[in-house]
Amino acid sequence: MRNKGLLIVLSGPSGVGKDTVIEQVIKNDSSIKRSISATTRPARPGELNGRDYLFISEDEFCKNITEDRLLEYTKYCENYYGTLKKSVEEILADGQNVILKIEVDGARQIKEKCPDSLRIFILPPTMQELKNRLLNRGSEPYKNLEIRLKRAIEEIKFSLQYDYIVVNDNVDECAAVINSIVNAEKFKPFRMKNIVNEVLNDEKNTYR
Ligand code: 5GP
Repeated sequence: MRNKGLLIVLSGPSGVGKDTVIEQVIKNDSSIKRSISATTRPARPGELNGRDYLFISEDEFCKNITEDRLLEYTKYCENYYGTLKKSVEEILADGQNVILKIEVDGARQIKEKCPDSLRIFILPPTMQELKNRLLNRGSEPYKNLEIRLKRAIEEIKFSLQYDYIVVNDNVDECAAVINSIVNAEKFKPFRMKNIVNEVLNDEKNTYR
């Protein structure tokens, strides 16, 4: 019997390198698929609709809220971000693992709705390094940079409530640690119930 896929929540302050880490995690393990979030923020240069985000209007986003199509959502730095139920359910139903790249408020909502989810927080090595990475990205006006750094401090305080914290000093190492966490997580007893029952049933048939 196949076990249900894992719902993996990955958080970390803006600029910590979540996208690059996720890309590597998926390269290492093709059973992990990314859920594409919806957002009202404009696309940055190089970002593609449907690949990086579903870039939608505020009206469309609010319609998703009223029609209960979102698993979670939040307002972050003046823009809405949310996870569509459909994009997660489709992947899990297929027995694959799904990874969500979301901030701490969304992660809290997911833990309430899906207590079996696995939550991992990515920490920058230092705040100075985080600032450098945001500056190097060059996509934020200075005002946003300050807002994102303040928000980063608040998010890091929440990291202690996650299941695991991994420092992103080096992308390959950080991704490898996340892959090992995901692999180990699959063997937690509460996730192995189906397999245990199957073995027990088999034992009943053998000795009947
Ligand atoms: P960015 O604008 O840098 O792409 O994302 C800003 C923040 O929003 C990041 O911390 C990112 O993880 C978070 N985020 C992206 N998609 C979602 C989502 O669907 N839900 C929530 N709650 N946060 C999201």
